[in-house]
Amino acid sequence: MANLTDKVVIITGASSGIGEETAKELASKGAKLVLAARREERLQELTNELNSDEKRAAYKVTDVTSYEEVEELAEFAQDQFGQIDALVNNAGLMPLSLLNKQKVNEWDKMIDVNIKGVLYGISAVLPHMRERKQGHIINLSSVAGHVVFPGSAVYSGTKFAVRAITDGLRMEEAKESNIRATIISPGAVSTELTSTITDEDMKSGTEDLYSMAIQPDSIARTIRYALEEPPEVTINEIVVRPTEQD
Ligand code: NDP
Repeated sequence: MANLTDKVVIITGASSGIGEETAKELASKGAKLVLAARREERLQELTNELNSDEKRAAYKVTDVTSYEEVEELAEFAQDQFGQIDALVNNAGLMPLSLLNKQKVNEWDKMIDVNIKGVLYGISAVLPHMRERKQGHIINLSSVAGHVVFPGSAVYSGTKFAVRAITDGLRMEEAKESNIRATIISPGAVSTELTSTITDEDMKSGTEDLYSMAIQPDSIARTIRYALEEPPEVTINEIVVRPTEQD
């Protein structure tokens, strides 16, 4: 994409953390943003901030577990800005727990948001991108998409899946339609993600790791770097973690 000026980027999970910082980072390079998440007030506030000089952003309240809503999000982006250059599939949650705690509802949620939400996003933008024979899809995996630890079985399972899906997408689309696919795998980043942990043992168990967490702007810069590479270059995956993290 090389130059981000006026490139249209959809970001899911833009209401906090990595998604919010990515929106700010890309806007600072001239991109146009379509922001999605469930918390409207946060999206509205960020949109106002990004639009203070000129219209650069629009938002649409979207629950990524609804295929219909994600399709509507892509249509909205197309209507607002006339094209879709990139999608950052960033929405996610991480309610860690041991399997024997049987937190089945949380497993369902993680699978719905972290895996199905990513697939819905891909499906919604692919026709638009294939038509123009260009586009870039960036999916957020994790260091936990490379290694499993007790309590991360399901979360890691979803993030391993994101890596598999992204690699498959890259191989299927590259020659066919020039569409690029990139995996971003962060280590501990200081965001609201740990607030999705309901298990008390896991909450205290992750305190050490998150005491070394880096700020989300570092991941935003990484995403910008992947997007700014020229069309003939695909960054397959970047793993970014706190210097202290094993
Ligand atoms: P945050 O909790 O700050 O952000 C998560 C975002 O996802 C929020 O904007 C939230 O918005 C959105 N979201 C959650 N559920 C849904 C849903 N059903 N529909 C739409 N949006 C949803 O965490 P991060 O910024 O840290 O997380 C971003 C991504 O980075 C996630 O995929 C996470 O797994 C990944 N990651 C994070 C790491 C970390 O240490 N922070 C490490 C490795 C990977 P809302 O509630 O308004 O819908």
